[in-house]
Amino acid sequence: MFEYQYPDASGHFGRYGGSFASETLTHALTELRQAYAKYQNDPEFIAEFQSELAHFVGRPSPVYHAARMSREMGGAQIYLKREDLNHTGAHKINNVIGQAMLARRMGKPRIIAETGAGQHGVATATICARYGLECIVYMGAEDVKRQSPNVFRMKLLGATVVPVESGSRTLKDALNEAMRDWVANVDNTFYIIGTVAGPHPYPAMVRDFQKVIGEECLQQMPEFLGAERQPDAVIACVGGGSNAMGIFHPYIPFENTRLIGVEAAGEGLDSGRHSASLQRGSAGVLHGNRTFILQDDNGQITETHSISAGLDYPGVGPEHAWLQELGRAQYVGITDKEALDAFHYLCRIEGIIPALESSHAVAYAMKLAKTMRADQSILVNLSGRGDKDIGTVADLSGADYYDRPSMRGYTVKGGAAQ
Ligand SMILES: *Cc1c(COP(=O)(O)O)cnc(C)c1O
Repeated sequence: MFEYQYPDASGHFGRYGGSFASETLTHALTELRQAYAKYQNDPEFIAEFQSELAHFVGRPSPVYHAARMSREMGGAQIYLKREDLNHTGAHKINNVIGQAMLARRMGKPRIIAETGAGQHGVATATICARYGLECIVYMGAEDVKRQSPNVFRMKLLGATVVPVESGSRTLKDALNEAMRDWVANVDNTFYIIGTVAGPHPYPAMVRDFQKVIGEECLQQMPEFLGAERQPDAVIACVGGGSNAMGIFHPYIPFENTRLIGVEAAGEGLDSGRHSASLQRGSAGVLHGNRTFILQDDNGQITETHSISAGLDYPGVGPEHAWLQELGRAQYVGITDKEALDAFHYLCRIEGIIPALESSHAVAYAMKLAKTMRADQSILVNLSGRGDKDIGTVADLSGADYYDRPSMRGYTVKGGAAQ
């Protein structure tokens, strides 16, 4: 058993985490820490959270044995944790429900959030509709243009979307604007953060709301592998790191299970066009905590790139920085091209259209499986579904991809008779 008890009382994961926020937020953060400490062990809170996950989200999400894909790889068995089947199409809703439940108990009727691709904004707008809370979502003006279907979804759900015109008009500018709003309206406003980042207690709190993913897997995997057996490796993509922490955390004590986080290597880890904070970043402060970030020599946040908007974030949750330093988790990169290939492959061989984010995890699992034996197993967190990405894929691959002469009659091997 791997001994692990983090964060400490001040919200530190070793030398990462903590709370770096303006004086004006000290009171709000203390209030939030106290409320979370009170409700996280409250049987009534826990029962309501579980009921929401069961009836509104549709949990538990299944684990699926990707048998055809595994056979094709000729190595380890690959299993997919189907977070793509959740209401709103990804894991993000788990955390948003938990935070919205806290907001209600704290008497905060106004919710703010920031979003890059719009996925966290949609999840937040969804739960605000469910609970009758006011919802304001900050989004970089550039992202508002790029992600118009999600902007419309948020509006359908009753949210106000505020385009942020400052800076590069993307996620990090939206983050700053959300922080500014929180400072100005702290009395009646709850800030729902969408990943395991932010000042203490957010990284631990978001992880706790997401760890239901791994806890379900601990029950589900022995059904496939036999009594007491758990997978040899667990793989998840890492943007801010919440779906990865959600599936990793319950597995941390299981030393024989490797934990592998997949960052977006974009055009290559050494191209300067990627979002691999853990592999190519350095320690610094972003979004209220100390972690690994992509910064230049003057400490300015650098532009990031990934084919998948959800991984396009210049930082990462502090707990991942710590798990990497402890050696308990390992972080690797998958390029845009590898992710896109894995996206097409999973569509064709298993009948599942994955999110481009999740396709990074699938791509690494395909590589790793080939180096392992058929009696070994890999569990992949399929963090979301790819409906939102079909426009991007059509642009990149060509809408006529499957109509080209070279693709005519294309089927993945290992088919029909099996
Ligand atoms: C937002 C998102 C991610 C990245 O966020 P994490 O906090 O790293 O999990 C990954 N997959 C999907 C489907 C997403 O929507």
